[in-house]
Amino acid sequence: MEKLLEVENLTKIFTLGSVISRVKITAVDDVSFFIKPAEIFALAGESGCGKSTTARIIMGFERATSGAIIHNGRREGKNEKVWFTEGIQAIFQDPFATFNPLRTVERYFFETIQNYRLATSRQGAIERIDAKLRLVGLTYDDLAGKYPSEFSGGQLQRISIARALLTDPKLIIADEPVSMVDASLRMSIVNLFKRLRDEFGVSVLYITHDLATAYYVCDRIAIMFRGKIVEIGTVEQVLMAPKHPYTQLLRASIPEADPQRRWQGVIRLSDVEQEEYLRQGCRFAGRCPHAMDVCRRVTPPLFEIDGAQVACHLYAEAPRNDEVLIASQG
Ligand code: SF4
Ligand code: MG
Repeated sequence: MEKLLEVENLTKIFTLGSVISRVKITAVDDVSFFIKPAEIFALAGESGCGKSTTARIIMGFERATSGAIIHNGRREGKNEKVWFTEGIQAIFQDPFATFNPLRTVERYFFETIQNYRLATSRQGAIERIDAKLRLVGLTYDDLAGKYPSEFSGGQLQRISIARALLTDPKLIIADEPVSMVDASLRMSIVNLFKRLRDEFGVSVLYITHDLATAYYVCDRIAIMFRGKIVEIGTVEQVLMAPKHPYTQLLRASIPEADPQRRWQGVIRLSDVEQEEYLRQGCRFAGRCPHAMDVCRRVTPPLFEIDGAQVACHLYAEAPRNDEVLIASQG
């Protein structure tokens, strides 16, 4: 199977606090997944689950403590940056933060054209900019000479997608790309990702806390909880027939009548549970209705079940996804 990008045993430990009291937080804990060509892959979870940190490591904004990113068959160790390497572009949550309010929007496009030597004349540049803007329903004339404040959030997000497309990326990393966009415009943006996948073979790493749009737009999904992937599979497998108790809880918390409702805040960990998760075993044991002794002692590996992978001891009878049972380092 062809893999466009592979994340291998990625771990990120932040050290917080003063010299006197240091706390180590494992924000990303042994996370592995891959993205295929022309695939929209969701990394989903509540805020603080490690999904954005994972994306930031892939983009080179953050250094991994251990693990690797394999991109275009090249292995990037923990100290290398893949950001701005060929073929990857990023779209961020707040389109207004992407653009400096004092600069015209088109300047960003011309800069990208220059940096990547994408045109040899101003006319050639304008043609390329116009072609990409048309993909998002705009034209060069719509933004010529204009400043960011002259656009709505939804328009600016489409403009930032068009700019990302200038370099013909193979992969777009989109961190909560619609969470700050009006609900009425969200669908037009996620539909754009589908179109880029279907017509141009672009892959998208879609970082989100919104299961409804993830289900709508994504092919496969990984659910993260407290730094770990707890379940991974197709959106049908994971969201329609969730196996992990945490995914089941999330699924149950989304009222059918209100699919847009966010899942944020469904689970709040008490201090005791936070401490518990810093030690060992399943991070969800403090809340899980099925918790067993083994859950507090041994970090569950991913088990293969009905084509999906689930990190839960309830499925210990199922074949293992890896060879060794990994006890958490705590
Ligand atoms: Fe619950 Fe144990 Fe499964 Fe964790 S490993 S989700 S505590 S049953
Ligand atoms: Mg985030």
